[in-house]
Amino acid sequence: MTAAATLTRTAARVDKAVKVYGTGDTAVRALDGVSVGFRAGRFTAIMGPSGSGKSTLMHCAAGLDTLTEGSAYLGDTELSALDDRRLTLLRRDRIGFVFQAFNLVPTLTVAENITLPTDLAGARPDEEWLDALIDTVGLRDRLHHRPAELSGGQQQRVAVARAFAGRPDVVFADEPTGNLDSRSGAEVLALLGDAVRRTDRTVVMVTHDPVAAAHADEVVFLADGRLVDRMDRPTARTILDRMKALEHVASEGAGPS
Ligand code: ADP
Repeated sequence: MTAAATLTRTAARVDKAVKVYGTGDTAVRALDGVSVGFRAGRFTAIMGPSGSGKSTLMHCAAGLDTLTEGSAYLGDTELSALDDRRLTLLRRDRIGFVFQAFNLVPTLTVAENITLPTDLAGARPDEEWLDALIDTVGLRDRLHHRPAELSGGQQQRVAVARAFAGRPDVVFADEPTGNLDSRSGAEVLALLGDAVRRTDRTVVMVTHDPVAAAHADEVVFLADGRLVDRMDRPTARTILDRMKALEHVASEGAGPS
C-alpha cells in the first residue's frame, strides 16, 4: 500500500450514529446522527464541551457500548453484526485502551502488566515489537518494579505500552492525562504521538483539554451529539478559539435559565 493510501485509510468510523440513553421524558440523545472516520496511522483527538457526547462516541466506536441507530466499524468490521463473544475477541485482539485511571494490576511487575492482555489471549508476544515499545515508553530500567513504585506518569506509560503490546488496529484513550500533572501529562501525550509515528498505529483520544488535543494530528469537534468541525495540525490556541465559539453557541442555545 502506498503512503498516500495509508493516510486516507479509515481505521474506525461511525455512520449516522445515534445514541439515546433512557426513555420517555428522561431520554438523552447523546449522539445525534454523527458520521466520522478516524484515519489510520494518525493521532486524532475528540473535543467538545462537557456533555457533547465525546465519551459516548468513543465507547460506541470501541465496541464498549452499542448504538441506538446507525453503525460503527473497526476497519471493515461492522460491530453491531458481532455477537458478544466475537465483540469481546475483537476488543481483545484489535483494540487497545488507555483510561484516566491507569488500571494496572498492583501485584504484577511492569513487564507482566504490559504483556497481560497478550498472555490472557494465549498469544505469543512479538519480542521485537515489545522491545521497541519498551524503549519508546522509556521503561527499560523499571521492568521489574511494581506499579506502586512508579510515579503517575510512569504508570500511565506502562498503560500505553500495554495498549500497544498486541499490535492493535486502534488505541482508544479516554482523558489519559486527567490524573497527571502537566509535565507528566505532556510526556504521555508526546509518547502517544511518538508511538503512532513509530508503529504506524492509530490513536483516538477523548479530551476536554486544548493543550492535550494539540498533541494530535487532527481534532474533531462535537457539540450536542453532532460533528461540528475538524481541524488538521491543531495548536492549543486554534483549538481554544474553536472551543470558545462552541461554548458560546451552546450557552446561547440554552436560552435564559
Ligand atoms: P462528554 O464525554 O462530551 O462529556 P458524554 O458522552 O459523557 O459527554 O455524555 C453525553 C450526554 O449523554 C450527556 O448529556 C450525559 O449526561 C448523557 N449520558 C452519558 N452517559 C449516560 C448514561 N449512562 N445514562 C444516561 N445519560 C448518559
